[in-house]
Amino acid sequence: MSVPFDLPGAFWRGCLHAHSDESDGALPPAEVARRYRDAGYHFVAVTDHFRSQHGYPLTDTRAYRSPGFTTLIGAELHAPGTELSTEWHVVAVGLPFGFAPPDPDETGPELARRAREAGAFVGIAHPSASLLTVAEAEGMDAAHAVEVYNALAAREDRADSWHLCDVLLARGRRLSAFAADDAHFQPHDPPGLVAWVQVGARSLDPAELLAALKAGHYYSSTGPQIHDVAVEDGMVSVRCSPATKVLVSGGAPAGQVQTGHALTEAALPLGDLATAGYIRVTVVDAAGRRAWTNPIWLNEVTVNL
Ligand SMILES: [Zn+2]
Ligand SMILES: [Zn+2]
Repeated sequence: MSVPFDLPGAFWRGCLHAHSDESDGALPPAEVARRYRDAGYHFVAVTDHFRSQHGYPLTDTRAYRSPGFTTLIGAELHAPGTELSTEWHVVAVGLPFGFAPPDPDETGPELARRAREAGAFVGIAHPSASLLTVAEAEGMDAAHAVEVYNALAAREDRADSWHLCDVLLARGRRLSAFAADDAHFQPHDPPGLVAWVQVGARSLDPAELLAALKAGHYYSSTGPQIHDVAVEDGMVSVRCSPATKVLVSGGAPAGQVQTGHALTEAALPLGDLATAGYIRVTVVDAAGRRAWTNPIWLNEVTVNL
């Protein structure tokens, strides 16, 4: 089996990266929360830019929690100086309200470490759009995850950051991978509410969601649902919403692909990926929308191989 599909509880749909008018978003936090709730999400983290020009906001969305909908407190943290960008972009979800503004000398990796120590789930935001180097990502040792799909960056055709994440994973780094809107709801933006996570947890309690995120107990999607993934006897079995393609890839330049019409089950051999360290599953639907599991470390499912 593989987490989170073999865990008790339910999947909770959420957005981990969105902005309000507390920084450079178009909408007040209440309206951002309302849009996600009305679209059927179970939670949102409004992650405004933690910059001096916005007064280092830690946007308080607790008043917008209601039965069946909650919010996580977070921010997008910035520090100066990557090789090819003016600043770091780091999503931190689960920050305490007392989280102090960055020290002028604090580096991106140091700021991320402080956020993690303060209790946050830390993600390297849109590395493709930021032209982040592999070396810089490797130095971001506090990261729990890479934002492998950023819907806002689709306007630059740089939404997808799986390449960087796969290189880090194939070198042995333990990371999870999330998709997010980075919604600002500005008129010139691509539509929001298109990329999310499905977090496997026993309840919608913010502390449980945060623990599940840190443990990688989630998958990501721009449309399809993944109901189950099992690894057994050299085969990967997948149950999902109707798909045209189910793909197993991982820590080696190889892939196993099953295509069809309205596939809801697939069984693929590990093949050359059996010694790849980790695998991951991608599900594509007829509209080209995708869902991605987190990496599944094969040494953790060895008993079933
Ligand atoms: Zn950013
Ligand atoms: Zn952002």
